[in-house]
Amino acid sequence: MPYVIVLVLLVVIVALLVQYWYIVVPIALVVTLAVLLPRIIRHVRMRRYFASEAFLAHKAEIASVVTEHNDIASYVAEIRGTGSFGIGKSSTGSQASLATFQNTSQYAYRRDRNVAQYGAPNVHNCSLQIVRNAAGDPLKYVMKYFDIAATDATLIDVESLGQSISRLEDAVRNLKQRENAISNSFDPPAFILKHYGNEFMSQVGVNLSPVTVPYPEYVFEYVSAGGNSSQRTSFKLDTSAIDALLAALSQKMHFSKSVAGQRALMTASLRESIKRRDDYACKYCLVSVAVEPHLLLEVDHIVPVSKGGLSIVDNLQTLCWRCNRSKSNKLPSS
Ligand SMILES: [Zn+2]
Repeated sequence: MPYVIVLVLLVVIVALLVQYWYIVVPIALVVTLAVLLPRIIRHVRMRRYFASEAFLAHKAEIASVVTEHNDIASYVAEIRGTGSFGIGKSSTGSQASLATFQNTSQYAYRRDRNVAQYGAPNVHNCSLQIVRNAAGDPLKYVMKYFDIAATDATLIDVESLGQSISRLEDAVRNLKQRENAISNSFDPPAFILKHYGNEFMSQVGVNLSPVTVPYPEYVFEYVSAGGNSSQRTSFKLDTSAIDALLAALSQKMHFSKSVAGQRALMTASLRESIKRRDDYACKYCLVSVAVEPHLLLEVDHIVPVSKGGLSIVDNLQTLCWRCNRSKSNKLPSS
């Protein structure tokens, strides 16, 4: 809007300077009104909608739904704060902070168009060959150069990363579904959704969560000595990549033949099969998705991994987020 006012002021100034101002000034005023008037009318309609009896009555009616949404939004922040979202570390540049680099070229050659990022834990500085190979065989190269060794301890760490990511993904998806359901139940006029989406949610009392899923990302980077060229391969550990990493690690460890291999790998399909086995119902409070369609369910280790609990089917159960939250508040690590 300010640019319209600036434009009009400019036109007016020019008009006053020229002799036809009495023609230019009315035209400028009409244009201003034509631009501003629809916005002003829309704003008044928006205020009237939010003050309307129908809106306020429905808001009061669904207050408990909104409260539950906001509780899950704060739960999402908790998962984000306490979960594990990183694994592996690049060995290149781990001591980079000890040294100082200076470009002391005598002539004005530009030798720093591309500068290697030494010291970033998720960046591996390497040859062009490795950058290219990593693009073809990402899991193998990430395991090798980010020091993700095929041991039972690593396997547990990757599983716990997978758990944190899938919990957060589920919870974020659940919030979106709830927000859509809340919005649909109001069925607001189209102009409200188009122009005042966030204002609508805040008028309803919904706290929008800014949390996104922090997938670990690994970068293989080559920077030429002269700084003239740079190439990189990046690889994101999302749920399917984590499952593939678990499979690769366990295969490398000959996991299925080991004692630890008596347990299952904690993958997305195992989590889904546990929920299916439990009929998508919480084992503690017995609430199910049949009763509460937007129920957020999680897969829980009955005896926590930190206390020696295994990822075997008998040690896994489905809990709703409320029961899982109060369980993990009683047990500091689950
Ligand atoms: Zn429950």
